Order: sequence, then structure tokens, then C-alpha cells
Amino acid sequence: MNDVTGPPPLLAVRGCRQAYHKDAGADLLVLDNVALTLQEGEMVALLGRSGSGKSTLLRIVAGLLRPTAGEVLWHGRALEGPPEGVAMVFQSFALFPWLTVQENVELGLEARGIPRAERARRAEEAIDLIGLGGFESAYPKELSGGMRQRVGLARALVVHPDLLLMDEPFSALDVLTAETLRTDLIDLWIEKKLPVKAVLMVTHNIEEAVLMCDRILVFAVNPGRVEHELAVKLAHPRNRQDPAFRQLVEDIYALMTRRPAPSPPAAPGPAVPAAVVPLHRVGTNLMAGLLETLAAAPYHGRADLPALAAALQMELDDLFPLGETLQTLGFALLEEGDILLTDPGGRFAAADTDTRKVLFAEALRTHVPLVGTIRQVLEERWNHRASAVRFRDELEDHMSADYAEDTLRSVIAWGRYAELYGYDEEAEQFFLEDAA
Ligand code: ADP
Ligand code: MG
Repeated sequence: MNDVTGPPPLLAVRGCRQAYHKDAGADLLVLDNVALTLQEGEMVALLGRSGSGKSTLLRIVAGLLRPTAGEVLWHGRALEGPPEGVAMVFQSFALFPWLTVQENVELGLEARGIPRAERARRAEEAIDLIGLGGFESAYPKELSGGMRQRVGLARALVVHPDLLLMDEPFSALDVLTAETLRTDLIDLWIEKKLPVKAVLMVTHNIEEAVLMCDRILVFAVNPGRVEHELAVKLAHPRNRQDPAFRQLVEDIYALMTRRPAPSPPAAPGPAVPAAVVPLHRVGTNLMAGLLETLAAAPYHGRADLPALAAALQMELDDLFPLGETLQTLGFALLEEGDILLTDPGGRFAAADTDTRKVLFAEALRTHVPLVGTIRQVLEERWNHRASAVRFRDELEDHMSADYAEDTLRSVIAWGRYAELYGYDEEAEQFFLEDAA
């Protein structure tokens, strides 16, 4: 199926499906029918919400995970395990604390049997390139977060990979540090100084994707699949204030908030339920604030998300999880890049503090089944206490451990606010307030 006129693409993924097997219940379908190709010279973003399967797909591409079905072709040949020529940068800087910067970077070469002097030379080159010259003998703990992430990048670049994979590489950094690193990286890429042929970058940050990439693959959730593909034709250096830039961001927002299309016919194979989407850790104050803002002038119940983000001086990508959370709770709807207040949302905004708690409790019971389960267990128990462990386990049947943890923390904070139950941090137990 390769193009007869040219070499095969660097990477081709076809019909890729991933289901995680769960002991406790049915399998969990995370990716379905994912297809993508990557050519030399491209920087491509995989853009999607939390839990849409982006990291899973990246691990498949890196040969770290074998997909349940489908094929991954690397230089036209089926992938069997991690291929040579692919390097990965993770969100958090997995550096060895007892090794210096130089030693951490050289590690990328050690496994390849490259002689010591050559290793040292190439490591220094990568360290200089990424702006860490002079820090060769520093230890990770002496470096800032941004510098540590640069070490992570140098370690990936030192092998001169054909394909550089990055999984939300800037999301653990503060805003300014992230922006500096982003622009440094684009500059190197544009000036063709990066010793890589293509970059595939996972992000949930729309502006980041538009700022950096030539092509954006927008992921749908539940199950994860490539739903839209957009080319970014803007010249570098790109300006976030440029109307064309803003328009593209708006368009992508609209795509990502579009009501889900009817599901495509299921691919052949065993039927598996779609994944339970994890909850974001969003504070109730923030939710209340947004509902009030939306209800008031000039919005009167409907606002354009990017415009709202600008007015609130929020990052678009912080507003999005907040909007999604309000949608989950039935207080708002996301639609074509707008956020709309629902009736319950309007009632919440207009209510006093005590009524708000009642309305919030109602929303939780209706839209977050776990909250009802917790209440029920507490009411049935003689001492009205229940350990969080069992609920965490239950969540982990549906999602990875860190998503389960985030979801549990949300359920704790939200239920406390709604006065549905208390939570004893020390004992890690839920309890009924009035029974305590
Ligand atoms: P993303 O990177 O887009 O946030 P992930 O690929 O990490 O998404 O996860 C997609 C879904 O698969 C989530 O619901 C997550 O909880 C689940 N998941 C990820 N890894 C595992 C795993 N090892 N076992 C079970 N479920 C998992
Ligand atoms: Mg991820």
C-alpha cells in the first residue's frame, strides 16, 4: 500500500485498537481504529482531552506497548518492540539523581556500545544545543524544572533519532518556562539544528499545537481515535495574537466542543465497553465563579470560550477542563466553541450559599454515580465510615492509577463541599458528618 512514487512514510499506523484488560471487569476500549502517518520533516501534534488515549498511542508508536489490533509500520516494516531511531521525552523529567547532567545524557548512548570518548563528545554537543552548556557536571537537584526538562530533551536528542516523541513535554513546567522552552525548540527545528527527522508531540494544549506544529491530529475520546486533521500553514515565528492564529485556535475549540457524532460502526472484534472518562481536579470555587460570570452581563448565559478565557485572564487550556467539568455536572454545555449555561447552572448562579450546596449535591448524585455509591455504602455501614481504598480500586478498573487518584480527589472535595460526606485524610476514610 506504499506510495509507489516514493519511500514509505517514516511511520504509519493503521487500524490500531487498544483495549486494557481488567481482572475485575470487562476490558476497557481506549483506542479504536486509529490511523496516522508521519513523513520526514514534519512536526505533528496529537491533540486531545485527558484520557483520550494519547499516551497509550505514543507508547504503541514507541514499541513499548503492542496494540490489541492493527499495525504499526516503521520505515515500511512492521514494528517488533522498540525500534532503533525513536526517542521519547516524558512529561516529568525521569533523570537519575545520582548522575550528573553529562552522565544522564550519555546514558542514551551507553546501550548502543558507542566508545567512551565519542559518547562524551556527542553528549556535550546535545547539551550545548539545548542551552545547558556549562552545566555538564551539575546534578539534577541543582537544576530548575525547566533545565531538567532540557536534560531530558538532550538525552533523547543525543542518539540523533529519526523520530522524536514527546508526551506533554511542557505541561509540568510553569507558564514562562514552558514558553521559553517551546520557542527554543521551534527555533532549533526551523533552523534545522535538531538532529531528528520528525517530531510527534502529544498535548492537550491547543495553542501549543498551533504554535509549534505543521499538522494537528485532533483526538476524539471514548474510544480514542483521530477525528479531525488540520494543516497549520502559518509561517514561523508564529504570533499568538495574529488573527489567523486566533481563528485556528477558535476552529479547533469548536471541533473539540462539537456534540459527538453518532458512533461509527464498530470495528469487528469483541464488544468492549468504552472507557469511563476521568474527572478533572477542579475546585468548587472556580466552578461557582465561572457560573456567576456566565450568568451575568455581558454573557447572559452564553460565551465564546476563547473570548471568555481572555476576559478572565485564564489560559484557554485551564478553562477547558473547567467547562468540561461543569458539563459533566449538568451545569453547562460546550457547543461549537461556546459554553452555555443550563437551567440548573442558572439556578446555581442565582442561589445563596446554602442552596448552592443543595443544588451541587443534587448534580453530584445525578451525574457522578460514584458519589451515590459512596453515600449508600456509608449509610449501610454501622459506623458510617468507609475506606477510600475500595473506591480507588473500583476506579482503577476503569482508568489508570493517576487518573483514578485525580477522580477520587475530585469526588472527595466535591462531596465535602456538598456536605454529602466528610473525609478523614489521616485514616483515608469517608464518613457521614451527622453520624461522626
Ligand atoms: P491521555 O494520555 O490522552 O490522557 P491515556 O492514554 O493515558 O490518555 O489513557 C487513556 C485511557 O486509558 C484512560 O481512561 C486511562 O485511565 C486508561 N489507561 C491508561 N493506561 C492504563 C493501564 N495501564 N491500565 C488501564 N487503563 C489504562
Ligand atoms: Mg497522557
